[in-house]
Amino acid sequence: MNRRGPVLLIALLLLTALLASFLYGRRSREYTSDQFLMDTLISIKVYGSDPENLRMAVNAAYTEMHRIAELADSFPHPGTAAFAGSDVCRINQQAGIAPVPVNPDTLAMLQLAKKYCELSGGAFDVTIGPLMDLWGFGKIPHIPPPEEIRAALALVGNQDLLLDEIKQTAFLRRRGMKLDLGAIAKGYATEKALQSLKKSGIRKALIDAGGNIRVLGRNPHNSPWRIGIKDPRKSDGIVAILSLEDAAAVTSGDYYRFFEVDGKRYHHILDPRTGYPAVENMAVTAISSDAGIADVLSTVFFVLPAETALKTAAGLGEKVFIVTADHRILYSPSLAANIELLPGTAYRYEQGR
Ligand code: ADP
Ligand code: MG
Repeated sequence: MNRRGPVLLIALLLLTALLASFLYGRRSREYTSDQFLMDTLISIKVYGSDPENLRMAVNAAYTEMHRIAELADSFPHPGTAAFAGSDVCRINQQAGIAPVPVNPDTLAMLQLAKKYCELSGGAFDVTIGPLMDLWGFGKIPHIPPPEEIRAALALVGNQDLLLDEIKQTAFLRRRGMKLDLGAIAKGYATEKALQSLKKSGIRKALIDAGGNIRVLGRNPHNSPWRIGIKDPRKSDGIVAILSLEDAAAVTSGDYYRFFEVDGKRYHHILDPRTGYPAVENMAVTAISSDAGIADVLSTVFFVLPAETALKTAAGLGEKVFIVTADHRILYSPSLAANIELLPGTAYRYEQGR
């Protein structure tokens, strides 16, 4: 009996070591990869036990993002495969001439855009291309003369974007019309990337596409992810913290791309009904289970007055957090349990306290 003591002890130690190494091997690891795509820094973070699987899953997700980015690209790139023309380029080139056969994902983005254009009374319109070009965001932005705005506005019109689901074609009915998927492509691509991660077996992930957030599952500590909502007038300030689980939170703001003339701010989200930058809000975050829908809705709600945005969100079963141009903060009552308001900001909280 006495002689078997040390043997048992060694066996026990060996077993413990084996178990520890097994648990260590299975422990959740983080893998992050960043890429610059669609004019934005994208970051994909995934969690799991097999480092090789994590890396391959993220690569596949990026492949999916690149594919969508190429469909939606409005600029031809000489010397690359995309030079032959992305779907959006070809639709624009063929405006007023002929319907263009497109990829199912292009059609899906355009259908989404059409639906929310109608639903928002024209506050959201992907045929905004001629107006965006005129204002010159991304190039040399300037305030265009009113007659040029009127002329560009005449070329904006969702009713002249014709989609044929059977033939899988898209057609801009008038010459000079132009699509701009800037308000939807990033979110749609993010959702595709997330679905790709899921297919690769990933259960926890966070995709940050320039502040547009999509999370899968809960965070590594098994609680909801905590997402800061930026103060639109303080670059390092936060007005609230949002708890997010298996959902997307996408923000549209007047502080990413803008210029100032005589102390007045002109930014890149235009109201297709006036031809000028939307004036109601400074920042709007849309929360939805789908990043593509959240991206569309952030722009839709940004253009609408806050009260209309809240009502529309409630009707759709979606959620929105709004910082208005007159310094109020309002949000969907259904968000109350997921929002932590931060003290000391320069805004009036009108709801949800
Ligand atoms: P961000 O580009 O900062 O993510 P948004 O998702 O709100 O913000 O998209 C803004 C982009 O959408 C603009 O750069 C332009 O390409 C396009 N856009 C601007 N105004 C509208 C609008 N009213 N409807 C649809 N698209 C718009
Ligand atoms: Mg958007």
